[in-house]
Amino acid sequence: MSEDFPAAEGAAGDPRTAELRDRLAAVRRRISAATRAAGRGEEPQLIVVSKFHPAADVARLVALGVTDVGENRDQEAAAKAAELAGLALRWHFIGQLQSNKAKSVAKYAFSVQSIDRPQLAEALAKAVARQQDESGRPDLHCYIQVSLEDDAGAHRGGAAPADIERLAESIAIASGLRLAGVMAVAPLGAPPEEAFEKLAAISRDLRGVHPEAVGISAGMSQDLEAAVQFGATHLRIGSDILGSRPRVG
Ligand SMILES: *Cc1c(COP(=O)(O)O)cnc(C)c1O
Repeated sequence: MSEDFPAAEGAAGDPRTAELRDRLAAVRRRISAATRAAGRGEEPQLIVVSKFHPAADVARLVALGVTDVGENRDQEAAAKAAELAGLALRWHFIGQLQSNKAKSVAKYAFSVQSIDRPQLAEALAKAVARQQDESGRPDLHCYIQVSLEDDAGAHRGGAAPADIERLAESIAIASGLRLAGVMAVAPLGAPPEEAFEKLAAISRDLRGVHPEAVGISAGMSQDLEAAVQFGATHLRIGSDILGSRPRVG
């Protein structure tokens, strides 16, 4: 590479970087417009969901100013986090998690947003404590994933609202875990506004007991505006930034 082409220009000439820059800018404009429409002063934190997309895309996004990424499978997340270990990035785990993966996740995750049962909280507490002894990692930000389904048949994961208080307690008392808030995925086939309004009420109740649990992780590519309207502090956006991915499940 000649000295006439500094790194920034080289990156700008990469068509994938140009595509990601445009798509990221479009999503950021939507977030700004939704924040203004909601009369909110501060924009929610954008988490770019990079599942199924290569580590090279995450590196491109970091060069474009992205600081937070989300992944839903430990194997894929662990590999990318290792590959990109030199970059200043926060990894958010947002998928269903088996307790036996807690040890791996504790090595790279800034947050786990999909805690749905006390046994998982206990496994994470143990894994984080070990990791804190070894590497001094910070406390793990923990979000309770809440199920907003009326119909158990269409389950998209999460704890039933009735189980949240007990789960919150199990996180709050564990050293190494910080109760950060709630997370949800809007049910398919219903207006997201209804779901996110319900989530806002659940968050309010939780904060009544645990004032520190201010986070509301809600909103994906399709419904980020509704999530911002109902107080989301974190948005998890995948396909509108990175493009489509193979469907699974
Ligand atoms: C994949 C995923 C997202 C991102 O969804 P998009 O529709 O691609 O924006 C957000 N949250 C969770 C839990 C996911 O699994």
